[in-house]
Amino acid sequence: MREERGKTMKGYYSSIPWGMLLRRHYCHKCGARLRKDSSIRIVTPYDKDYAEYSTWRTGNRLTVVTDGDIQVKEYHFKCPDCQTIIKYPEQQVLRKIQKKRGSRILSTQEQEEDRAWAENRISTEKMIKEMLWILLCITPLLIAIIRDLIE
Ligand SMILES: [Zn+2]
Repeated sequence: MREERGKTMKGYYSSIPWGMLLRRHYCHKCGARLRKDSSIRIVTPYDKDYAEYSTWRTGNRLTVVTDGDIQVKEYHFKCPDCQTIIKYPEQQVLRKIQKKRGSRILSTQEQEEDRAWAENRISTEKMIKEMLWILLCITPLLIAIIRDLIE
């Protein structure tokens, strides 16, 4: 059964979070500047997150891009000094704690103490960004309405 799928089209997916490109990140264990690293994961139709990569949504229309296996390029951070590998969502949390504490190196206790606070901040910021994005999208409409009213 698995061999049959070999004939189908192979997809390729790659995306990198903006925060990984735009911000500097430092290792919470040794303080060194973290480097971007990537790995390839093969996502098959049997995987839970398959639809995320195999389909494309425009409004209500769902387009199936592929029904075969997909190579997904995933990014993470790697410390050039102590070789620690950190996934981006985890580094986001650590970065918040580093900023709050004013220190790049964090003890396990410090991480535990501030984790809930940092996660809260991240979700609040995400919500604000989404709201700003919606505002930006409806601005042309608002301008048109105001223009209509004053003319
Ligand atoms: Zn390190």
